[in-house]
Amino acid sequence: MMVDRETRRRLIVSVANRIIANADELTDLDRAIGDGDHGTNMRRGFTAVLAAADELSAKSFGESLKGIGTTLVMKVGGAAGPLYGTLFLSLGKSLSDEVSREQVVEAFAAAVDAVKARGKSEPGQKTMLDVLFPVLAGLREGGEGFPARLRAIARLAAENTIPMKAIRGRASFLGERSIGHMDPGARSSELIVDAVADVMEGYA
Ligand code: ADP
Ligand code: MG
Repeated sequence: MMVDRETRRRLIVSVANRIIANADELTDLDRAIGDGDHGTNMRRGFTAVLAAADELSAKSFGESLKGIGTTLVMKVGGAAGPLYGTLFLSLGKSLSDEVSREQVVEAFAAAVDAVKARGKSEPGQKTMLDVLFPVLAGLREGGEGFPARLRAIARLAAENTIPMKAIRGRASFLGERSIGHMDPGARSSELIVDAVADVMEGYA
């Protein structure tokens, strides 16, 4: 698969617009079990990414991913900024313009590991990793109707954080009271996967 300049631009615009359009929902989710800033944080970061879309997509796929990562580290703040920054920076280190599914799987596996190391976290702790891990497993499987399946996996995975008790991040301060709410970072990861799937299907 060739990730050319136009595809890079579409990916950036699709992901940034999806986060910006759903920022209020992310903030509401974070208000329930955190400090209510996840949407504002993500909107700030992805507004900066969107403003740089042309400049970023003019670079190679690897460099544009690194540019997204750096922008997120600088602009998002909170816990999520360094974690999403790490995810994109790591993807940028291993992906080039011409990519096979195997390379994407390897790159995504390394990126998810980097997020784990940065957050000192594991799946099952009610964080973004509870979406990123199942998506990695779905990527590994591949097969027919691939983008639609990734979308479904991400959606279900975000919903699956509702009954979890938070062990990492601010929500862990609530202990049992974190149960019954979707994790905001899990939802933002779902939105990112969904926006990427749109481009893969040619919608965005
Ligand atoms: P903050 O918690 O500093 O206010 P945000 O509200 O922007 O930052 O982001 C919160 C989200 O970050 C959580 O919903 C969770 O998904 C994710 N998160 C927080 N800490 C960790 C961690 N240690 N590992 C993985 N993800 C984490
Ligand atoms: Mg917060």
